[in-house]
Amino acid sequence: MSASDFNHLEAQTLLRHTFGYEQFRGDQAAIIEQLGQGGDALVLMPTGGGKSLCYQIPAMLRAGTGIVVSPLIALMKDQVDALLQLGVSAAYLNSSLSQAQAAEVEQQLLGGELDLLYVAPERLLMPRTLALLGQVKLALFAIDEAHCVSQWGHDFRPEYIQLSQLHERFPNVPRIALTATADQRTQAEIRQRLQLERARVFISSFDRPNIRYALEQKSSNSKEQLLRFIRREHEGDSGIVYCLSRKRVESLAEWLNSKGIDARPYHAGLPQGEREANQDYFLNQEAVVIVATIAFGMGIDKPDVRFVAHLDMPKSIEAYYQETGRAGRDGLPANAWMAWGINDVINLRRMLESSEADEAHKRIERHKLEAMLGLAETTDCRRQALLAYFNEGRDEPCGNCDTCLTPPQTWDGTEAVQMALSCIHRSGQRFGVNHLIDVLRGKENERIQRWGHQQLSTYGIGRHLDDQEWRAVFRQLITRNLVQVDHEGFGALRLDERCRPVLRGELRMELRQVVKRAEKKAAKRSSPVNEEDQALWEALRTCRRELAEEHGVPPYVIFHDATLMAMMEMRPHSHEQLERISGVGERKLAAYGDAFLAVIHEYEHQTSGGKPDSAGESLQLFRLGMDVNAIARQREIQVKTVYGHMAQAIARGEAEVAEVLGLDEPQLNAIRYAFEHAEDKRLKPVYDALEGEYDYAILRCVQADINRD
Ligand code: ADP
Ligand code: ZN
Repeated sequence: MSASDFNHLEAQTLLRHTFGYEQFRGDQAAIIEQLGQGGDALVLMPTGGGKSLCYQIPAMLRAGTGIVVSPLIALMKDQVDALLQLGVSAAYLNSSLSQAQAAEVEQQLLGGELDLLYVAPERLLMPRTLALLGQVKLALFAIDEAHCVSQWGHDFRPEYIQLSQLHERFPNVPRIALTATADQRTQAEIRQRLQLERARVFISSFDRPNIRYALEQKSSNSKEQLLRFIRREHEGDSGIVYCLSRKRVESLAEWLNSKGIDARPYHAGLPQGEREANQDYFLNQEAVVIVATIAFGMGIDKPDVRFVAHLDMPKSIEAYYQETGRAGRDGLPANAWMAWGINDVINLRRMLESSEADEAHKRIERHKLEAMLGLAETTDCRRQALLAYFNEGRDEPCGNCDTCLTPPQTWDGTEAVQMALSCIHRSGQRFGVNHLIDVLRGKENERIQRWGHQQLSTYGIGRHLDDQEWRAVFRQLITRNLVQVDHEGFGALRLDERCRPVLRGELRMELRQVVKRAEKKAAKRSSPVNEEDQALWEALRTCRRELAEEHGVPPYVIFHDATLMAMMEMRPHSHEQLERISGVGERKLAAYGDAFLAVIHEYEHQTSGGKPDSAGESLQLFRLGMDVNAIARQREIQVKTVYGHMAQAIARGEAEVAEVLGLDEPQLNAIRYAFEHAEDKRLKPVYDALEGEYDYAILRCVQADINRD
């Protein structure tokens, strides 16, 4: 057996017993092996991909302490708490510790007691810390959020550049740099600045399949639009709302509160104490919306952020991807929702052109903004467009974005476009969008009077479209560069050379149709919990919240939503059954297993004790020879409910799955195969793998059979 085989087994064991997970995901095993053998690694993996395990496990396997460099002091405690919950020996060193506390951590380090030590970069680079590290055995260096080394990105941290010292001082300690930033320039910069030229590079797919992308047109009242989105899909969820300005952040947070949504503001201008308190509140509670500028978010590893909403458009796809990426780290469905409009286009262009940056820099920024606008305007799959930007091809539309779900209608806007262009021309290329629309729609107001614009030949020729529709026309003219915004001339529109073919009627213009509110299909609420299970779900969450309060950690440090969800589906009755659930490791089983089993037990007792035993009645009819549909008809209950009853019977060994479902062995085997090859224990991937051929109710029965002991 070679050394690396040995590591593999040990790594597997740690994964199962300590972390409670069945299998490594993606590149995790290969990365762990690379470090285990003493090599360096550069890891590009999307948020939620599972980067932490890539250094935690090798740090535990190798002799000595793994040093984790992490830029955000406020979040280190949570990361360390999560490890302590798993029974891993970990600590952190940063300026939030008292001298005595820091001295204690240093003693632990010197005593070789720590598997992992989290350190802020400025602390790490202090001569005292470096000297300390010189005295102990080091397992590895992990440099998290490694894109902070890039001067081009907005997360730049000067201390990160100094981290190249680590390699010079400790040439034999393997290093791993990790980031969720996908672009190639940053990747090259990390390699060069951190002297990782020889590192093996691991690039994962940047797709986040559980995130649903939607970019809709801003209505005249975007606050209300946001509120409708939250009410429709995210009542009681955690979420982040991004806005550009601090003022807007504050007023929006206040307004949401007045509407009964627990919202807190976050931006760099708030007093530090308040900012931190709001961040903590967001991390520790389950239904808080944080309204923030882009100052918020890096390193936030709250797994159950169910939505990220943008009320202002980010200035690049990189930023959009990074910000939306904070949703759904736990792999459960999440929404990335944006409302955008013509003002975003005008503002972003103006900010860019009026910035102090040199021309070379501006050219890059311009290119990035154009790509972002392209993503917003596209009538094709958003995910395909997004991934294509990161050079990741994808053949099929995703089926989980707004354009896939509700394909946008286009209309022949050639005539409208010609009217708009001609109106710009005739009014002397000196007016902004609002006035131009007023002219086209034949409004009577003071401005029009003053300029005598009711005399223009374009006055009133556009009454067939409303304000919203005209804004969409102008927006598309601007994003397609047929028209330029004169930022010095207070947003006046000027014709661009490129509009000539349209004016001459040589080019037809297909425009995206404005979706009117009433026509919009109500998206399904993304919460995966159905009504029947709601009571149990609440009970499990309450149990988790109580334990979290007892231990002084955020609820997700006890168990993630995905783990509670699995408990709800599988209804474990013993430690053995509970341990099979993803996210339940040895330590947590011992610490919390009984509490959760008691909740499930009590729930089942109540539901069967309260009413006559409904499941028992279904089983009896089944034994009399009725099939599921017949039972449902007879009892006047839902077919799904009967399947639920039968799943319980199957789990207890009181009914045979083949008989209940009326499926033959090859069919059952196909389903079992799908379960075996599913990445985790959720039903959706299995359902999808079987191409929706079998209903969830059927899958639950097969699952009950698989889990039966
Ligand atoms: P990242 O740092 O890449 O954003 P994390 O390390 O926080 O991601 O992992 C995201 C989530 O996935 C966490 O809840 C983590 O516990 C879970 N996870 C990581 N690896 C696995 C695995 N092999 N199996 C199941 N869950 C995993
Ligand atoms: Zn799509």
